Amino acid sequence: MRRSPLAALLLAFMAASAAWAQGGGEQWLDIKEVAARWKASVAYDPLTGTGHVLRGTDLVRFKLDYPVFSVGQGTALRATAIKDEGIRLGIRSDAVRAIESWFAERDAERASHFSVAAILIDPGHGGRDPGAIGEFGSGKDRLRVAEKDVALAIGRDVYDRLVERWPDKRIIITRRGDTFPTLDERVEMANDVQLGINEAIIYVSIHANASFNKSASGFEVWYLNPEYRRTVVDPMKAQGVDEHVLPILNAMLEEEYTTESVFLAKTILGGLAGVVGEVSANRGLRAEEWFVVRNAKMPSVLVEVGFVTNEEEARRLSDPGHLRKLGDGIYNGIVEFVDYFEHRKGSSAQ
Ligand SMILES: [Zn+2]
Repeated sequence: MRRSPLAALLLAFMAASAAWAQGGGEQWLDIKEVAARWKASVAYDPLTGTGHVLRGTDLVRFKLDYPVFSVGQGTALRATAIKDEGIRLGIRSDAVRAIESWFAERDAERASHFSVAAILIDPGHGGRDPGAIGEFGSGKDRLRVAEKDVALAIGRDVYDRLVERWPDKRIIITRRGDTFPTLDERVEMANDVQLGINEAIIYVSIHANASFNKSASGFEVWYLNPEYRRTVVDPMKAQGVDEHVLPILNAMLEEEYTTESVFLAKTILGGLAGVVGEVSANRGLRAEEWFVVRNAKMPSVLVEVGFVTNEEEARRLSDPGHLRKLGDGIYNGIVEFVDYFEHRKGSSAQ
């Protein structure tokens, strides 16, 4: 995840300070030139003496010789009034600064809105790596369940449903068949996704469990151990940022990833409990330093859908109907996570 509301705030602050420094003494400027610098348009009606400046969806209304500007939904900004100088409309630098800092606030607010732009589904193992294997019975009752097949069936199902729900998001799957991308390759796929400043990617790895204890059964969701310290700010991407600020940014982002990973783990666990809770035990949330989870610079979780070493559960895990339910549970959990983060106000970072 390369989103950084902090960086956005920093940029907005720097823009506002630069504008202040430029202002110097109070002076009159051409509103059209100022608007061009803002990449905004100006409209003015000489009959009523009213007009507006529009930058994207940010609207500033003004009235000639009236020292109040109405911004957004009608908030009043007090500054020197616009005056008609004959060949141009004059705006004084204090009004320019007031409007600029309002624009900067809007930018910071937008940047703080979390959007999950990409979702990466990672069916564990594959190809020459079968993962855990459960073998039971003999003759026509013989049953052999490989983790890689369980993970792929569920992963593809979740992937297809996410693509259908969110055609605009980048939904990625690390393997579509019985192949074996290395762990490094899987993490690379995730870290290679290009994201905007307010966009995030989430990583969901799907596995099945094994235990020497044949009675162990049930599903669980792992997230990164919060004790584990990571370097999540990419030094290449952070060039130009004050080196003393880096460790602080890093610590804050890390905290944010952990919060989000725990929440994602919770929503997926809840999703699974909702669909298979009656037949399979809920083993809860777990914290660990899984390779895939550790190296992915984004909220990431690892789902263990059940034990292939428990005969009863292995039989369920070879039933397409049960696999579809597990897919439903993971899908519902992801949807709940995304909806929550995209629709709540503000950001977890502030
Ligand atoms: Zn596994």
